[in-house]
Amino acid sequence: MTDRRPMILWFRRDLRLSDQQAVASAASSGRPVIPLHILDETMGGAARWWLHHSLAGLHRDIAALGNRLVLRRGPATEVIAGLIAETGAEAIAFNRSPDPAVAASDEALARRLRQAGIEVITSDGGLLFEPGGIRTGTGQRFRVFTPFWRACRAAPPPAWPLPAPEALPAPSTPVAGDKLDDWCLLPTAPDWARGFAPCWQPGEAGARARLAAFIRHDLRDYGARRDRPDLQATSRLSPHLAFGEISPGQVWHAAHHALARDPARSTGVERFLSELGWREFSYHLLAAEPEMPRRPLRPEFARFPTLRDDTALRAWQRGLTGYPIVDAGMRELWQTGWMHNRVRMVAASFLIKDLLLPWTEGLAWFADTLVDHDVASNAASWQWVAGCGADAAPFFRIFNPTLQSRKFDPAGAYIRRFVPELARLPDELIHAPAADPDRAARHGVVLGRDYPAPIVDHDAARQRALAALASLKQEN
Ligand code: FAD
Repeated sequence: MTDRRPMILWFRRDLRLSDQQAVASAASSGRPVIPLHILDETMGGAARWWLHHSLAGLHRDIAALGNRLVLRRGPATEVIAGLIAETGAEAIAFNRSPDPAVAASDEALARRLRQAGIEVITSDGGLLFEPGGIRTGTGQRFRVFTPFWRACRAAPPPAWPLPAPEALPAPSTPVAGDKLDDWCLLPTAPDWARGFAPCWQPGEAGARARLAAFIRHDLRDYGARRDRPDLQATSRLSPHLAFGEISPGQVWHAAHHALARDPARSTGVERFLSELGWREFSYHLLAAEPEMPRRPLRPEFARFPTLRDDTALRAWQRGLTGYPIVDAGMRELWQTGWMHNRVRMVAASFLIKDLLLPWTEGLAWFADTLVDHDVASNAASWQWVAGCGADAAPFFRIFNPTLQSRKFDPAGAYIRRFVPELARLPDELIHAPAADPDRAARHGVVLGRDYPAPIVDHDAARQRALAALASLKQEN
């Protein structure tokens, strides 16, 4: 055992041991290592469920290397200063956050520690390309996805993933920390997350297994099947990526490796990588516009005439709008902590354009209920749907939920799974039972009794949304 003073290894939204520069730095430092996690008190409810299980997994993985994960809560600066005073640590390693709000306090913390004589090792973390690193030929930031992603594809590829360390030596005196259970991250009364466990395996091992299964079964036809919520054909890696249980670099290289073994996968691989590209683009935008989660990127949209309607908002949140595809999505979210991307777009469009509610209300609900909540992807996606973001869908393009449902859930299998009260309706009626209420009743679904009548009429709501947009344009 080394007699050097310890190094703190601060785990944040990078809860893995492999392809982790901070872990590699600590493991090769020749110092005893104090693995630390500080609770992010701002995390939404579903993400807290995930965090509990992810930390339990990391705890086991660190124990297998002969060390112990120390859990503490409180402001990071104070916790770290306290731990240094307590243990005599003289170095700290952590990955910088790609969230600019956090990155600013990271820099201040690093400065203060260095002034106090502590060695601070920080590394890039969480993205394929550092935000701001990809620029146009004239050094400007991209505002449009396609040229951004083309420039990413032309840049040197992300580094080959680092292996997990073989050992992480512990300090000779054990360091005290909180018990994970004392953080009470899991809901109890009621246990609204009981549907999560069958869907997910949080932690690094679960992330690896998910990636392997996706590559084996779904990567090849990803491009053709990714928009179908009934097929479960996407990777479902989003919560693993959001918690850093797998790095985007590991995903990138695994996809390329699969392509090298089977060139028939090329269309699927390109399409899949470009979705990872949207994650990159979201952080690229957030780095330039740190207010993106709160303010529209197109300033004129700050005056958009939204409504305040708590009854409609509650109906949307609970999956009781009377539009089956929207309700299926919102109930999938509640039951599993996740929602298919196509349905996220339809449900978000419904909130913004059919109900005329502020997109920030939807963003806040997703932040609380998604296990994959990610500050950049959530904000960029809501602004994309609301037409107020960079490279966004124009506001006047309004999803028709019934047509979307017919196209992407043709036999209604997804709706039947999450809105079981409609399961006995025939395929042609399940997307819009209100189109023929008598027939729906003959199949045992009485609108207003067994399932809500639509809370708005889509065609009228569409006209209202377009009028709101026109009023905004007149003001300018
Ligand atoms: P795959 O299709 O397998 O894609 C692979 C990975 O690429 C995903 O895991 C994800 O990391 C990334 N990705 C895919 N699509 C997008 C996208 N449109 N934008 C950014 N990254 C993408 N994604 C989040 O990770 N967190 C969020 O909080 C989030 N909020 C969203 C809110 C709205 C209104 C919408 C429309 C989309 C949101 N997304 C968010 C993007 C997308 O819906 C999810 O990333 C995707 O559904 C995750 O499923 P998957 O892992 O199977 O994706």
